[in-house]
Amino acid sequence: MAISRRAFLAASAGTIGGLALGACGVDEPRQTSAAGTTSRPTLPPLKLSADPFTLGVASGDPLASNVVLWTRLAPAPTTGGLAGMPDAPVDVTWQVATDEAFTSVVTSGTARTESGAAHSVHVDAGGLAPSTDYYYRFTAGGFTSPVGRTRTFAGGDSVPDHLRVGVVTCQDFGTGYYAAYRHLLDEDLHLVVHLGDYIYEHDLPIVRSLTPPGTPTDLDGFRSRYAAYKADADLRAAHARYPFLVMWDDHEVTNNYAGNTGTFGQTADDMREMRAAAYRAWWEHMPVRVAPPTDADVDIYRSVKIGGLARISLLDERQYADVPPCRDSAVSDTGDCPARAGNDREYLGPKQQSWFAQTVAPKDVVWDLVGNPTVVAGVNAGTLAAPAYYLETWDGYPQARRRFIESLRTAGGQPVVLTGDYHAGMVADIHETPGDTSTAVVTTELMTPAVTSVPFPLPRETNPHIHYATERHGYLTLDVEPTQITATFRLLDDIAKPDTAITTGATWRIAKGAASATPVA
Ligand code: FE
Ligand code: CA
Repeated sequence: MAISRRAFLAASAGTIGGLALGACGVDEPRQTSAAGTTSRPTLPPLKLSADPFTLGVASGDPLASNVVLWTRLAPAPTTGGLAGMPDAPVDVTWQVATDEAFTSVVTSGTARTESGAAHSVHVDAGGLAPSTDYYYRFTAGGFTSPVGRTRTFAGGDSVPDHLRVGVVTCQDFGTGYYAAYRHLLDEDLHLVVHLGDYIYEHDLPIVRSLTPPGTPTDLDGFRSRYAAYKADADLRAAHARYPFLVMWDDHEVTNNYAGNTGTFGQTADDMREMRAAAYRAWWEHMPVRVAPPTDADVDIYRSVKIGGLARISLLDERQYADVPPCRDSAVSDTGDCPARAGNDREYLGPKQQSWFAQTVAPKDVVWDLVGNPTVVAGVNAGTLAAPAYYLETWDGYPQARRRFIESLRTAGGQPVVLTGDYHAGMVADIHETPGDTSTAVVTTELMTPAVTSVPFPLPRETNPHIHYATERHGYLTLDVEPTQITATFRLLDDIAKPDTAITTGATWRIAKGAASATPVA
C-alpha cells in the first residue's frame, strides 16, 4: 500500500475557510448536589414534541464513589444548530439505581443545561459504592432516556483480582460499520478506553454517508459531526453498556495537527479558532470529568486508579506538540533528517510531561496502564538503509520520547503502553532507545486496531522489535490481574458488512516482572 497517510486524507479534505466559533456563553450546565437539591427555582416544565434523547446516554471517568453521566438533548439531530431544541435553559432530571427497573434509586437530581452547551448534560453522580454496577437514566420535556449501565472502580488500596478493559480507536464513520461496538457488548467489560479519532473531520463516504456531509471548521459544524456519529445505534449501545475513558487524537480537530500547526496550510489563528470550536464540541459530547473548554487551551490529560490493581493515565499528544521536524525534506508525512534526532522539541509539553512523571511515580498500583495515542516503540516505514518515520508520532520527537520512556522506566506500577492512531494492531518491545534493539527493553506497547479507519502497513522487516502485527480492524481486550495481563486482539471479517463476524486474531500475555509479552498458545 503506497499511499501516505497525509496524501490519503488530503484527497478528501474540504477547504479551510470562514472559521468562526459560534456564540457560546460562559454559563455551564449546573448540577445539583448528590442529594438532589437545587439552589434556585426550577424552570417551568418544558414540553417537547419529539424525543430529545436521540444521541443516547453515556457514562465515563469512573472513580470508586463517582461516575460522570452524559446526554445531550437533540430532538432533530441532523438539522444542525440547536438540533431542534429551543434557545433556552432546560432542567433535566437524572436517577441512578442498583436495578434496571429503578426500584432502588440511590441518587438523583436535576441538572440545568442551556444552548451555550448544546443542551448537553454532565452529571458527576457521587455517593456510590465501589466496584458496583449501576443503572441511570434522564428525563426532560416529557421524555425518558434509554437506560444506561455503568460501574464504579475499586477504591483505596484494595486489589481486585480481575479488571476487564476494552481498548478502541479510529472510527472513521464513512469507511465502515461499527460492528466492533456491537461485538463489544458481548465482552463483559468493566470499562472501555478510547484512544482518539472518535470523529474524523474529513468526509470519506466509502461504505456509508454522513448527515450532514462535509468538513466542519466551526462549533456548529463540529456539533453536527458528533451528532452524525452518534446516529450509529451500535456506538450508542456501547456507550449505554459501559463506562468510557476517552482521550482525543488529531482528527477531533484536523489531520496530524501539532499545537497550532495544521497540515492543510491553516494559519495559527485559524488553528486556534478551530481548536476552540472542536475542543468545546468534544466536551459537549463526551462523558468526561473535564472543565468545559472556553478557548483553544484545555487540559484533558488525566488519570484514574482502580484500587491497588491499576492506574490508567490518558495523554494528549497533539495540543502541546511543537512543529514536527523535517518539514522541508519529508515526503508527505514520513521521512527523516538530521534535525529529527538533533533538535529537542516538546511532544507532551513540559507541564504534561511533569504531571505524568509525578502521577505514575507512587508505588501504589500493580500496573501503570498508559493511554497513549501515537506509537512509542517506533516504526521505520522506509528501508534499513534509508529509514522513514511518521514525523507527527513519537518518532518525530526522540528527545521528548527519552523523557517519556524514563518516566515509564521509573513508574510505581509495571508500565504497559496502550496505543491507538496507527490503524493497525501491534505487540512491540519499547527499547530504551527505540530503533536500537541492543538497548534494554523497558516495557511492552499494545496497539489496538482501528474500529473502521483505513489501515496502514506495519512493516516487520524494518522493525524487529514488533512481535505481532495485524492490519485488520477490531479492538483489543485486556484481562488485568495481579500476576499478569492478557491482551486479546479481536478482529472483524469485513467492516463493509454491518453483521460481520469477529474472531480472536492473537492472544499475548505480559507476566508481572517481565518487560516483553509472550504469545499464548
Ligand atoms: Fe485514526
Ligand atoms: Ca490519528
